[in-house]
Amino acid sequence: MSLLFPALQEASSQTALRFGDRALSYHELARAASGLAARLDHSARVAVWATPTLETAVGVIAGLVAGVPVVPVNPKSGERELTHIIGDSTPAQVLAGPDADLPEPLSGLPRTGVDLDELLSDEATASWGLPPEPSPGSAALIVYTSGTTGPPKGVVLSRRAIASNLDALEDAWEWTADDVLVHGLPLFHVHGLILGVLGPLRRGGTLRHLGHFTPEGVTRELAGGGTMLFGVPTMYHRLAAACETAPELAEALRGARLLVSGSAALPLPDHERLTRATGQRVIERYGMTETLMNTSVRADGEPRPGTVGVPLRDVDVRLVDESGERVPEGDSESVGELQVRGPNLFTEYLNRPDATTEAFDGGWFRTGDMATRDPDGYIRLVGRKATDLIKSGGYKIGAGEIENVLLSHSGVAEAAVTGEPDEDLGERVVAWIVPADPQSPPDGDALSALVAEQLAPHKRPRVVRFLDALPRNDMGKVLKRELSGGQ
Ligand code: ATP
Ligand code: MG
Repeated sequence: MSLLFPALQEASSQTALRFGDRALSYHELARAASGLAARLDHSARVAVWATPTLETAVGVIAGLVAGVPVVPVNPKSGERELTHIIGDSTPAQVLAGPDADLPEPLSGLPRTGVDLDELLSDEATASWGLPPEPSPGSAALIVYTSGTTGPPKGVVLSRRAIASNLDALEDAWEWTADDVLVHGLPLFHVHGLILGVLGPLRRGGTLRHLGHFTPEGVTRELAGGGTMLFGVPTMYHRLAAACETAPELAEALRGARLLVSGSAALPLPDHERLTRATGQRVIERYGMTETLMNTSVRADGEPRPGTVGVPLRDVDVRLVDESGERVPEGDSESVGELQVRGPNLFTEYLNRPDATTEAFDGGWFRTGDMATRDPDGYIRLVGRKATDLIKSGGYKIGAGEIENVLLSHSGVAEAAVTGEPDEDLGERVVAWIVPADPQSPPDGDALSALVAEQLAPHKRPRVVRFLDALPRNDMGKVLKRELSGGQ
C-alpha cells in the first residue's frame, strides 16, 4: 500500500468535502489537515467529537495524516456509554469544532479546536507538506461497534484494512473520482465515516454530506449532481414513503448511478416500493465494524433484493455449522454461521485479548451472522445467531423472513420478530408490531395466519404484541435485547 489518500498529496482545486454550504477543495483539506496534524500530540490517541460537520471530517483526516489513532465519539452518547468509551480508549486529547460543548469526561481532556477559518488563514499552513505516510499495519482508527447486542467494543482498524476495503468497493461499485457521494449518515461508525468520508477521499471524488438526513436534502443533492447515495434501511424506508408525495424525489433517485443500503437488512417491501417509484434497484452490502465490508451486490451484477450480494475482491467467506463443519455451498436451505477472512479484517478488540481470540476460528473471523448461499454464490443473511435465530419445535427459524411477510401487510408500519422461552417448543416466535394506524391495529391472528400461509405453519408468531415504536439505536438498528428484556 502506498498513500492512503493520493488525492490529498495532489491537492487539486476539486471539491473534496461539502457539508451544507461550506466546502473544502483537496488543496484546502490538505492545508487544514496538515496544519491540524502538526498541533497533535503524536504519542497518544485522539478522540474526535464526531458531529456531522466538516470539522469532524478534518479532525479525522488530521489524525490519519499524523499517524495518531483516532477514536470517533458519538456526540449523542449517554453518560454511561461516553464513560465506557473514553475509559476504554484513553485518548490524551480531543478534537472538536469551536461550538462544541463537551460533557464529562471529555471536557477534562486537553482540547484542540478545529477552526477552519483559522487553519486556512494561518501563514504556517500556506506551505503545507504532508508528514511521511505511517506504516500500513499501524492503527488508524478505533471505532466502537453499534452496541446492538451488548456494550460497544473498540475495534482497532489498520490503514491497510481501510485501504484494501475501499479499493475492493471501487471494484464492486465502479467507484471513481467522478462520483459525487451523497449521504446524511453519522460520522462515528464505519458506514458514515470510513465508507462515507474516507471512501470518496481515497478515490479523489467528492462527498456532499446532508448534515442531517432529510428526503428534501437527498432530492436537492442528487438533483444537483450527486451520483451515489448511501443510507441505512430506516432512511430508505422514509425515502420510499416520501416518493409517494414528492415526484421530484423519485426523479432525483432515478437519476442516481448507485443507491446503496447497509448496516441492517432492507425489508423486501421497501425494496419493492422504491423500485416502483423510481425504477431503480437499491443494492445491499454487508459489513461489520470488525471486518469493514464483506459482500455486496456489484454495480455490474444482477440486483437480487433479499441478498447482500457476493464476496468482495480478496474477501473469503465460508458457512459453518455449530460443530465447526462446513455447510454445503449453494444449498439455499443450509444455514450456517458466516465466517470471513481477508485483508479487510480488524487488528484486535481494544483491551480485550480474550474476546479477540474467541472471535477467530483459525484465521477466520466468526461474524455471528447466519446465512445461506444461493447456488451462484449470492449470500442471504438469515439474521444474527444471538437474536434472530429462533429454535422452535426442532426447527431453526430466521426472524428476517417473518418480518418481511409481516411488513407486507398494509396495517403494519414496523415489525420485529424475536424468540422467547416456551415449555413445549423450546422457544416460541413473538412478533412485535407497530401498527400503521394506532387507532385500528391489524388483527394478531390474521398476521399469524399470513405468515403460516406465505412461509410455513411452524413459522407463525404464537404471540403478537403491539408497540408505539421499536427501540432502535442511532443507525436505526432494532435493539432486540430491549424487546426481549422489556417483557
Ligand atoms: P454490536 O457488535 O455492538 O452488538 P453491531 O453488530 O450492530 O453492534 P456493527 O459492527 O455496526 O455493530 O454492525 C454489524 C452488524 O450489522 C452485522 O454483524 C450484521 O448483523 C448487521 N448488518 C450489516 N449490514 C447488513 C445488511 N446489509 N443486512 C443485514 N444485516 C446487516
Ligand atoms: Mg457486532
